[in-house]
Amino acid sequence: MPLPNLLDFDAAQLTAWFAGFGEKPFRATQVLRWMHRYGEADFADMTDLARALREELPARAAIVPPPLLAARKTKDGTRKFLFDVGDGNAVEAVFIPEAGRGTLCVSTQAGCALECAFCATGKQGFNRNLSVAEIIGQLWQANKALGRDPKGERVISNVVLMGMGEPLANFDNSVTALRLMLDDNAYGLSRRRVTVSTAGLVPAMDRLREACPVALAISLHAPDDALRDTLVPINRKYPLAELMAACRRYLEKAPRDFVTFEYVLIDGVNDHEHDAKALISLTRQVSCKFNMIPFNPFPGSEYRRSRPERVRRFVDVLLRAGVVATVRKTRGEEIEAACGQLAGQIRNKTKRVAPTARGMLEEQTS
Ligand code: SAH
Repeated sequence: MPLPNLLDFDAAQLTAWFAGFGEKPFRATQVLRWMHRYGEADFADMTDLARALREELPARAAIVPPPLLAARKTKDGTRKFLFDVGDGNAVEAVFIPEAGRGTLCVSTQAGCALECAFCATGKQGFNRNLSVAEIIGQLWQANKALGRDPKGERVISNVVLMGMGEPLANFDNSVTALRLMLDDNAYGLSRRRVTVSTAGLVPAMDRLREACPVALAISLHAPDDALRDTLVPINRKYPLAELMAACRRYLEKAPRDFVTFEYVLIDGVNDHEHDAKALISLTRQVSCKFNMIPFNPFPGSEYRRSRPERVRRFVDVLLRAGVVATVRKTRGEEIEAACGQLAGQIRNKTKRVAPTARGMLEEQTS
């Protein structure tokens, strides 16, 4: 049996684990702080633990983040981190610096099973869910690489579960990782600074609202079921009317008073003026903001990005109707770190052997 990896545990689980061999809850708090606040992976350096415990722990447990395989940086400061998650699989996280904040975009699965038509990760198929250690380990490693600003604050102030995979399809591990992000003894991020992005797994949205409500983003991408069925196939299971109702339910407990609708603008596919008008009526009952993402091409993709004037016209229709809409500035494209380009290296267990790809994310302007 491999030793338990303590990066897999949130505070409650770590407390229970320590209790299993007669250690008090405050030991769990101490170790949690060492691991996540200070990025410590060596029990010997956890100097406020009793010496006997320090010496005993290596025989009982390990602290193992996913190994960092590569890190790349663009001129604008966007960074892509590639992590080894074993068996020839690798996943990516992307750091996006902006004025006043720094956002880390984290992956939750090796590959993705949802097969959205316009997404590089979906094209490469699904391998497996990431463990809690692999999810939180991306933040652990990125914090180590990025460090603190001159004021002593961590450079990473926001986290989005918006990298490879569908977080709500890896529900338990994503929620445990979220709890660590929020825990004052770990990363201490506010609920408003942590966002889950989903293609719309309706029952899991309800569970998230109860288990760990954080900011919510929905990958919408189409104003009607006929089009969304083709772009985001999970729509056939949870169509738009159900999705909008789930958004309203979520908002009852959400830390923000709106959900964010992400909308990838694909030339000639979903970027017509009538699409914008249909979006306005679709989302009338939901307090929301729109984040438009000009489509990011990737090797083998059949779509084209909407031209800037078409993007502008689409956004204008929304704005004139009083809908808040921003256009996400594409960042990290030169290192294939933009939205939908993240592909790591995945051995698809569901179909074929996937081609090697890469990818990452970006963030918004206004
Ligand atoms: N599975 C989750 C999280 C990962 S996707 C979800 O669907 O929300 C992160 C965001 O990137 C989503 O909004 C997704 O639709 C978008 N995206 C995917 N492929 C893209 C592409 N080629 N260009 C631009 N954005 C893309």
